Amino acid sequence: MGLLSLATKGVQALQPYQPGKPLQELEREYGITQAVKLASNENPLGPSPVALRVIAEQLPELARYPDGNGFTLKTALAKKHAVAIEQITLGNGSNDILELLARAFVTPEHNIIFSQHAFAVYPIVTQAVGAKAVVTAARDWGYDLDAILAAIDTNSRLIFIANPNNPTGTWLSHHDLEQFLARVPSHVIVVLDEAYYEYASHAVLGDNQYPDGMQWLTRFPNLVVTRTFSKAYGLAGLRIGYSVSHPDVADVLNRVRQPFNVNSLALAAAEAALEDHEHLAKGLACNIAGMQQYMNTCADLNLDYIPSIGNFICVKVGEAATIYERLLREGVIVRPVANYDMPEYLRITIGTAEENDRCIAALQKVIVK
Ligand code: PMP
Repeated sequence: MGLLSLATKGVQALQPYQPGKPLQELEREYGITQAVKLASNENPLGPSPVALRVIAEQLPELARYPDGNGFTLKTALAKKHAVAIEQITLGNGSNDILELLARAFVTPEHNIIFSQHAFAVYPIVTQAVGAKAVVTAARDWGYDLDAILAAIDTNSRLIFIANPNNPTGTWLSHHDLEQFLARVPSHVIVVLDEAYYEYASHAVLGDNQYPDGMQWLTRFPNLVVTRTFSKAYGLAGLRIGYSVSHPDVADVLNRVRQPFNVNSLALAAAEAALEDHEHLAKGLACNIAGMQQYMNTCADLNLDYIPSIGNFICVKVGEAATIYERLLREGVIVRPVANYDMPEYLRITIGTAEENDRCIAALQKVIVK
């Protein structure tokens, strides 16, 4: 009997997550050295220098296990969000938390609801636990909250909502999200994935306010808000994220997580990064300026794009697979999103001004070719 057939049914049909192409791979495969990677929504300014110093100080302690309860980081986060420490769960990236939620609350009899074009990890964790994925159709690339509400049944356990969504960059307003949360029955946990919160809350939106999900935690005990240090805080390589929830949900997650799911360098660096307001502000300003560069380019080249409040933008380039390949040959790695039902689009992460210039020059070259 083949070993694959021994795996659970959900896992047998699972397609692994496709990450952005690493720079080293481009070098190996194409012999291109000075490439720019704008494919994984990373912070182009790198980690906070304060975090780097703290990591160096921590290195001699690596023979010891980390604090399995992450006490000092949780204390800092509890203070920041004005919540109790018992409401916080730390994860090896926020992906870890998404998976823990599925493992702790969902069985093959249940279903998990998310939207078309939503973050790729949602279908993966759903299938990994053998649950049914209920995928609602998108509206104008964003979430149709009425469709999500209509999809809820007695077997629904989780709803994944990314605000803003990756890869589309679309977002839900304060008003719409609040109305939605008020209508979700209490047997369904709403996971509000705010991986791009810092970028989104910095975007200028006028009346259509982008909400901080934390404000609803007391009112809606079935709400879980997730955040990460991988994006605006520039610590993607360390793998650290967290959720804030009702203490009972945190208690459940604490039971299923690995005892030391977050490493000691990540704990120390995250705590330092939280305090480095200057570095964060630089990154947010860089993102606003870079987003404008791409919007101007799209106007110049007559390309459609999906307005985004994240640190990435989806641009309609037509034959995206071909354009992606041509960009690779120019030493620019972006992200094809055909696996998100978006075969005509490429997702570009906002880089530094110089990286954006390189990407834009390459786009101009390969699109008119
Ligand atoms: N949620 C969304 C919407 C994301 O785009 C990402 C990163 N691609 C994550 C969660 C997970 O990030 P991490 O595990 O690095 O915290």
